[in-house]
Amino acid sequence: MAQVILEDISKVYDGGFEAVKGANLSIKDKEFMVIVGPSGCGKSTTLRMIAGLEEISGGTLSIGETVVNEVAPKDRDIAMVFQNYALYPHMTVYQNMAFGLKLRKVPKDQIKSRVNDAAKMLGIDQLLSRKPKALSGGQSQRVALGRAIVRNPAAFLFDEPLSNLDAKLRVTTRAELKALHNRLQTTSIYVTHDQAEAMTLGDRICVMYDGVIQQIAAPMDVYDRPVNKFVAGFLGTPPMNFFDGKIESSGNDVYLINSDFKIKLSSAHALKLAQKNGKNVVMGVRPESLSTNQYDGCGQNEFSAKVKVIEPLGDRQDVYMNTSDGVDFVANIDPHVKLKTDDEVQMFIDIEKVHIFEMGETGVNLTL
Ligand code: ATP
Repeated sequence: MAQVILEDISKVYDGGFEAVKGANLSIKDKEFMVIVGPSGCGKSTTLRMIAGLEEISGGTLSIGETVVNEVAPKDRDIAMVFQNYALYPHMTVYQNMAFGLKLRKVPKDQIKSRVNDAAKMLGIDQLLSRKPKALSGGQSQRVALGRAIVRNPAAFLFDEPLSNLDAKLRVTTRAELKALHNRLQTTSIYVTHDQAEAMTLGDRICVMYDGVIQQIAAPMDVYDRPVNKFVAGFLGTPPMNFFDGKIESSGNDVYLINSDFKIKLSSAHALKLAQKNGKNVVMGVRPESLSTNQYDGCGQNEFSAKVKVIEPLGDRQDVYMNTSDGVDFVANIDPHVKLKTDDEVQMFIDIEKVHIFEMGETGVNLTL
């Protein structure tokens, strides 16, 4: 087991495209780190550099105490689980799981016990004599996992390992993966574009965008205290709503104004924004911080909106609306509140929970 440390790691592909720009990431021994971001943000490139499948253009990569920039993949003591499982079709499940150990000249009886133990742990001990074509997606995924486990590596690297499973299986396998990590305690680095997977699996998550690490923190920290507008909008379903506006200070009070509303910000936010009078900003409000009822202790925090689409979800309803000025947003509303399309409603904002960002895709959170 080992820590994995990336210091100022960059990747410039042939042709000059910089896919990873000066990444600094320190993954602790036993930690489950999820690298998450939209397609093309550089997360797979980062993982492949850790695996040794992609040359590192700049910076230092260490696994354990060793700098491994120039170490061949097979000598890095890591095991990778791929999205497409990469099972050998002509080998049985047993042979697939044993293959890496055989190459490393592990004695036969040891191979047998390691494969059997891992197969039992994953509930695939009945499938050892089957070929991959006779396995379901979920079973193939377990075999790929088993092949990594038997190696007993210093770290597991996962590249979107659940993305070929159907939605339900993805959720159950995700929980099993977490349980497996709790049991094995092997340092794990997991790449996904799925923010729900990142939130549920990671001890910490690393959000990437445009080749740059935006934030590294525990999932709820990232959710509650996003450093910028990109991170805020990336985590959460439905995502955070954004309303453009301008800061207006008046005495000790600070307001966010636009053509739809004049919201009085909380005193904590007012302190941080007092010097920003006249500045154009973006207010971020999560769907759960909007209600058809007034919040306790909130003052000037309402605006009118029109209901467009209602999605009943049992425990809540996601209601898609727009403001008088045509700004779309979504609110999680108590399922017992009776609403219908085209209703005009007064909406209230939980002002303690809003964030104010600078303008721009990665505008800084001014309210942290
Ligand atoms: P996805 O979820 O779609 O796999 P990603 O975040 O994992 O996306 P990467 O695969 O790391 O992204 O790619 C990052 C960027 O580098 C993309 O813009 C991609 O087009 C580019 N890229 C990847 N491989 C190469 C290559 N071999 N040559 C040139 N550019 C590449």
